[in-house]
Amino acid sequence: MHPILRNLIDIIYPPRCHVCQEFLRKNPALEELALCKPCFKGLSRLTPPFCPVCGRPFRGGVPENHHCEDCLRKRPFYDRAGAPYLYEGTIMEAIHRFKYAEKTYLGNTLGYLLSLFVEGWLRETGSPVMMPVPLHPRKLRERGFNQSLLLARHVASRMGFELDFLALRRIKYTLPQTGLKRAERRKNVRRAFECTDQKALKGRTVLLVDDVATTGSTLNECAGVLKRAGAEKVICLVLARTMTP
Ligand SMILES: [Zn+2]
Ligand SMILES: [Zn+2]
Repeated sequence: MHPILRNLIDIIYPPRCHVCQEFLRKNPALEELALCKPCFKGLSRLTPPFCPVCGRPFRGGVPENHHCEDCLRKRPFYDRAGAPYLYEGTIMEAIHRFKYAEKTYLGNTLGYLLSLFVEGWLRETGSPVMMPVPLHPRKLRERGFNQSLLLARHVASRMGFELDFLALRRIKYTLPQTGLKRAERRKNVRRAFECTDQKALKGRTVLLVDDVATTGSTLNECAGVLKRAGAEKVICLVLARTMTP
């Protein structure tokens, strides 16, 4: 867009923060994100040490990355998982507005934040195929969009990765994972997914995308299906994760 036209539009419709709706002061670094400074500062970045497999952050104790108890006891189906943010503050608010208030334009802000993380985090994967955690068709009709697909699409287009949102399907209408205990979460998503296109997966690295992870049960269930269908590696990418006790 021509800069003069851009300025004119900015005068008529001054850009606002996508999370709190405050007018944005000129700040080129934050403009593309459509976040005001306080909201940007309200992002809680996850900091090491992490579990190198599930990406769980540790508080206190050994300062180096080390395997968590769960991963030592039983390796998940996925190869590793990572997330840039803790599910609180600006990210929690933004994800809520995005998912439940249908503010789909937030997909750009959140997708952009996720791609900034991917650039630094993913080094050795060649050309992965991105897949969002699918919604059940009934859920998709209720919500109108799959938030994870919007995130995956944004990251895929920025990074030049292939996107496949059809090969993995959710075949069981599950309860929301929120409010369920770890064992119940695992049970809730058991056999909830299937892979419809095994050819697309043979020998590939899949970058599986979801908005929020708590115990990782959903990601693990999907990863199991993808691995059985021939995926060589499954790497999970999540925008925010909760602190598990
Ligand atoms: Zn704001
Ligand atoms: Zn772990």
